[in-house]
Amino acid sequence: MDLEGDLFLSKMTNLDEIIKKLKALEKEGKSLEPDEGEREIIRAKVIQHTEEFLKRLPNEKAYQRNGYADKAIPQEELGEQPGNIDELLEFLSIHVDKLGINPASGGHIGYIPGGGIYASSLGDYMAAVINKYAGVFFASPGAVRLENKLIDWVGNLVGYPEGFAGNITSGGSIANLIGITTARVAKGIKGADYANSVIYTTSQAHHSLDKALKILGLDECVIRRVPLDKKFRMLPGELEEQIKADKAEGLKPFLVLASAGTTDAGAIDPLNEIAAISQKYNLWLHVDAAYGGFFLLCGEVREKFDGIAMADSVVLDPHKGLFNPYGTGIILVKKARQLLKAHSYEANYMQDANIAKEEYSPAELSPELSKHFRGLRMWLPLKVHGVAAFRACLEEKLWLARYFYYKVQELGFEVGPYPDLSIVIFRFIPEVGDPNAFNKELISKIHQDGRIFISSTNLDGKFMLRFAVLSFRSHLRETDLLLKILGGFVSGA
Ligand SMILES: *Cc1c(COP(=O)(O)O)cnc(C)c1O
Repeated sequence: MDLEGDLFLSKMTNLDEIIKKLKALEKEGKSLEPDEGEREIIRAKVIQHTEEFLKRLPNEKAYQRNGYADKAIPQEELGEQPGNIDELLEFLSIHVDKLGINPASGGHIGYIPGGGIYASSLGDYMAAVINKYAGVFFASPGAVRLENKLIDWVGNLVGYPEGFAGNITSGGSIANLIGITTARVAKGIKGADYANSVIYTTSQAHHSLDKALKILGLDECVIRRVPLDKKFRMLPGELEEQIKADKAEGLKPFLVLASAGTTDAGAIDPLNEIAAISQKYNLWLHVDAAYGGFFLLCGEVREKFDGIAMADSVVLDPHKGLFNPYGTGIILVKKARQLLKAHSYEANYMQDANIAKEEYSPAELSPELSKHFRGLRMWLPLKVHGVAAFRACLEEKLWLARYFYYKVQELGFEVGPYPDLSIVIFRFIPEVGDPNAFNKELISKIHQDGRIFISSTNLDGKFMLRFAVLSFRSHLRETDLLLKILGGFVSGA
């Protein structure tokens, strides 16, 4: 007996009534499926909005510091009734598009710039319209295969031998989380082991690694910050000494977190030596190459990454080095079965999905089940433009950093190490006064100006400015403009 069912039947015995009700509801919800003509109208308006954005872009500021308060989104109800698309696009222009940092601008040379190549947006558009279920091979063999082909390409770029697997994630943070989870499972680290287990990294490792450790509870492990050389790279000798000392104390070293392109200075840890030490002591080596990884496409800096193929897991961010819009990262794990072991799960209601097992499915290699078909935004631009265009664009960034490294010294600035990749750290030492206060003031003036956006960091107590160039829209023009702005602010100081 089903009480709820019985009650329902007693109230609504007439099937015609049910059919009438269904038809009325269908009619009310029908606007969710616009017809061809309606689609054309709304699409044209959205396209016009983005075209105007792109046309304005070369003359827009890279940073709009003012207006946060007065342009904040007003508190209002979403509303039961349909809105007007022109008004909605106008609303976005005012309250979203122009506020804060403009990552689409070539003048965005701060933090690690993102991308936003046009072809990716069209890939996203198709992925959303067609809405393939990209989580499980059974549901969309084509989508999953296409993503796996991209993983293969990136694995080959890293130099992995066959047998690896990976996942296209929402970004480097989640990719790091997956890598560290896999390390924990592969090394058999249980909750009770945490207090005695040791993780090695440096002060230059990206904070998303610390965040991943925290999420996993691994922040309860012993965490060693291995000392750095003058170029802010991990000192392998110090790593080995620390491992030996920890083992002698009865601790259990299990994981090394190295960087191939640090956020502060773009430094690449000596991966060859670190990998050899990791193997010698049987530690998992995870390499965070979220920023630096796709510079592997540039032959001239490839050797700086030597040893990366020995890592057990590697992270790269297509939304950085492949200029994809935000929301695309990659985790690679050298031995597929380890990634699988850490993430696969079976559910009764998924039993049909187990029929086809020819390919790995993202759902068994990551925390996600339903997921955006991210592969399409990465695949379409690579195919439409060809890899050579990406390589050239990355190589241009290497040369822009070298150019800036020399030119900024001509203006009297002090520079950090010669750039490994596309980040230069620099500061101005005034005749009189505190350099930290001076450079803090300087960046505030640059932000106020807004034409170029750069960010700063703190290295050994020094307030340093960063030239971090990675946008596909940053060229000589933007670099020279920054030099001109800097020159104007320090002349006579
Ligand atoms: C950007 C970055 C991350 C974090 O990646 P998200 O894509 O922002 O989540 C991790 N490590 C490094 C070195 C990065 O540059």
